Amino acid sequence: MIQDIMPKKLFNEYHVGETPRNGSVVLFFHGKEHRRLLALKREKEIHFPLWEEIPAKIQEDGHFQYLFSIDSRRFFLLTGADEEKMAAESVIPEGWSGAYAYYTLFDLRAGHAGTKPQMFAFMTALQLAGWYRDNRFCGTCGSPTVHSDRERALCCPKCGRVIYPRVVPAVIVAVTNGDMIVLTRYAGRLGSQYALIAGFTEIGETLEETVAREVMEEVGLKVKNIRYYKSQPWGVADDILAGFYCEVDGSKEITLDRNELKEARWFRREDIQLQSDDFSLTNEMMMEFKEGRQ
Ligand SMILES: [Zn+2]
Repeated sequence: MIQDIMPKKLFNEYHVGETPRNGSVVLFFHGKEHRRLLALKREKEIHFPLWEEIPAKIQEDGHFQYLFSIDSRRFFLLTGADEEKMAAESVIPEGWSGAYAYYTLFDLRAGHAGTKPQMFAFMTALQLAGWYRDNRFCGTCGSPTVHSDRERALCCPKCGRVIYPRVVPAVIVAVTNGDMIVLTRYAGRLGSQYALIAGFTEIGETLEETVAREVMEEVGLKVKNIRYYKSQPWGVADDILAGFYCEVDGSKEITLDRNELKEARWFRREDIQLQSDDFSLTNEMMMEFKEGRQ
């Protein structure tokens, strides 16, 4: 899965007063909803700008927010820079040609570009960058917020509100019946791969209730024997995904929710088509079932 970057490790603790130095990675988001990241791409390799490659003027004028570390390498979010200048003037490291450009996580994933630690860094930074961007003002009184000097939090100097990053719970569900499993494909997504049933937890329900509700909504099946498998951070949607296996209870006839899905049907273990990379919990759960471990 994307978070499985051993022997490397993500250290997500907030460090007060951390500043970039040579070797620090500087992440700069731009484009629609600021979901595109500045990077150099060469076939399957990518390079994120390092502190020493940032134009001097931007080093002076930009704001560099400490995000996290992977092993000893520190990652910073750059805000307040001139976007065009940033893309045009970033120094190209030796051995690389071409120009810096902005890529979505989907672009890089579809092109199988980047190492797993790079992709996990991108996804984690995307979530934190979104949180910083969307909480520049207090939602209670509208005043500009400031960063806490003790922890990862944004504080409102006027009304005292403290805003922490929020993680959104969601479930991934494998519905099985003996050697059969329900696989789905989303509507309205080009080239979408087979996946499992998924959905967000609503206010006032448990994860198990989310499982039962989402399965009923998406494919019209009742389920029993709901068992937790593993979880996965999925920063693309600010999620923590919890994976569950369960068994169909009663009728096996699928009633498709056509607003959300274009296809859902029962597959034999041997007919399961896995995804094209091993990033998702969904893929791991499909593989576990395909290979008879579930
Ligand atoms: Zn306030």
